[in-house]
Amino acid sequence: MPRILITSGPTRQYLDPVRYLTNASSGRMGCELAAAMLARGHEVVVVSGPVEVDYPKRAEVVQVVSTEEMLAACRELFPSCDGLIGVAAPCDYRPVKVAANKIAKTGSPLELHLVETPDVVATLGAEKSDQWLVGFALETEDHRFRAITKMERKSCDLMVLNEPSAMNSLHNEVEILNREGMVVATFAGTKSVVARGIVQVVHAELMD
Ligand code: C5P
Repeated sequence: MPRILITSGPTRQYLDPVRYLTNASSGRMGCELAAAMLARGHEVVVVSGPVEVDYPKRAEVVQVVSTEEMLAACRELFPSCDGLIGVAAPCDYRPVKVAANKIAKTGSPLELHLVETPDVVATLGAEKSDQWLVGFALETEDHRFRAITKMERKSCDLMVLNEPSAMNSLHNEVEILNREGMVVATFAGTKSVVARGIVQVVHAELMD
């Protein structure tokens, strides 16, 4: 039985014990993709950052907080999986130093020194065997060009292009691009409808 790894939700990068960097990802798209893959009879394992959504009962869920934890969990799980859907929005930056105590206000501007976190999909893409990878791209300009560039950089087989309005929404509108840069499908509607469409294309292009 095919086993699918799905990264989902945001991650958090703490600055001090109470404050963190994150984004508005809700985990809903990951949740619907998990449901759509389970409905096809596949095994699903979700590596998720902190979210409110309830993943399907039949999915194995591994909860993580930071991008580094998401990567570590995925590296452990990916070798036993046939493919990856990277729909998470991992936090791309982390503070160089995490303060041990709450940073006190001083009345002056606070400068944060941030460095990039590892890219989960790109790392798994570089390490994959005969597995397939589907990435997501959320772009505000040069949409297709940037999505295609990311697909190559992250060794993805398909890239799902969506709009920033998808974040924390019940709806989504997507284009799916293949390695040749062709639009192979477009879907719009509730995240449940869009997830079923994406899963159908993943099947047709990568699994059948
Ligand atoms: O953030 P970006 O637009 O580069 O995300 C594109 C793809 O890369 C998404 O599939 C996302 O899940 C993945 N990604 C990741 N690790 C990161 C940043 C993005 O896996 N640190």
